[in-house]
Amino acid sequence: MNRPTVPADFLPFALPEIGEEEIAEVVDTLRSGWITTGPKARRFESDFAAFLGEPGLHCVAVNSATAGLHLALEALGIGPGDEVLTTTHTFTATAEVVRYLGADVKLVDCDAATLNIDPAAVEAAVGPRTKALVPVHYAGLAADMPRLLQIARRHRLKVVEDAAHALPSTSGGRLVGTLGSDAAVFSFYANKTITTGEGGMLVTRDPEIAARARVMRLHGISRDAFDRFSAQVPSWYYEIVAPGFKYNLTDIAAALGLHQLRRARDFHRRREQLAQAYDAALSGLPLQLPAHAPPGEQHAWHLYVVRLADDARVARDRVIERLYAAGIGCSVHYIPLHLQPYWRERYGLQARHFPRSQRAFERMISLPLYTRMRDADVERVAQALRAVL
Ligand SMILES: *Cc1c(COP(=O)(O)O)cnc(C)c1O
Repeated sequence: MNRPTVPADFLPFALPEIGEEEIAEVVDTLRSGWITTGPKARRFESDFAAFLGEPGLHCVAVNSATAGLHLALEALGIGPGDEVLTTTHTFTATAEVVRYLGADVKLVDCDAATLNIDPAAVEAAVGPRTKALVPVHYAGLAADMPRLLQIARRHRLKVVEDAAHALPSTSGGRLVGTLGSDAAVFSFYANKTITTGEGGMLVTRDPEIAARARVMRLHGISRDAFDRFSAQVPSWYYEIVAPGFKYNLTDIAAALGLHQLRRARDFHRRREQLAQAYDAALSGLPLQLPAHAPPGEQHAWHLYVVRLADDARVARDRVIERLYAAGIGCSVHYIPLHLQPYWRERYGLQARHFPRSQRAFERMISLPLYTRMRDADVERVAQALRAVL
């Protein structure tokens, strides 16, 4: 297949930052003789708990956030006949895991300013079959967790946070992962705020959810391979207690995670600087800039999403084309689920039921944002936007 040649100065939408420590740790793993789930995955779990910094957290490393969301809802007993509420303004992974379990998804609209799930819409959507709520901390800005947890308590709903964007985000001064939901699930996909290539972390205070997820992430085996080869019971003995999945994180991936996590605060500082630089460089253009976290709170800045203002005279698709022609990669987060054929047809969804997500989608552009960007790259994107708008 002919691929268009990418000019040398193309500014991609996202790039991971992998340093020499990560590379050395991966090489060490490869030479160690233990490359699947083992001591490094264990250490990544305990380092992650230490990073979140509150006692009593269980961290379960998995090979994707999608897997972690699936395991969390499975451990909570979600199944056929149940309904799970989530936002239309997300990636399909948030919702598809509900279908894996044979339960139904009820999508609700987002808040117009933050693009996070709208608590009032959640409250209005709760029905007799509703068992759980999956908020997403969109772009790295924490959803309104105090209100969502209050609604959940009132209606006896389980809460699993899709925290794929939310390392490190805060709500009420506390890090996402410690907010008192049933579980929170982080993603270490290639373009997330820290990466293991593919990977995720399920965080919960509930020892039963953690224990179930540990069993189900590896075939329903009652103890994982590392235990089998190190504990007193005969090394060959294991028991299958359920038809589990294959969701364990390899030590090769965990080797990356150990060092990415160590750098997470520096990465975050750089993302904040870049977001501030965008804010300054884009002011005065017909753009709605992204919502900030309230004073004292932390936005993880996984994404920097602008929206064309009412008085912008160019269509969104055209702006993205023009930026691409100028050597700048952009994206759209997200094509709302209510527009995707599977979700639309399965639940008979219409755009007019999700006016805020729909309107945001039609006008939104995610600009490049990653730690390896230079200040001059921000200026270049702003310059290109000025020229287009
Ligand atoms: C990336 C992402 C996921 C899935 O993460 P994986 O680790 O790729 O499975 C889920 N939800 C949201 C909102 C995401 O952005």
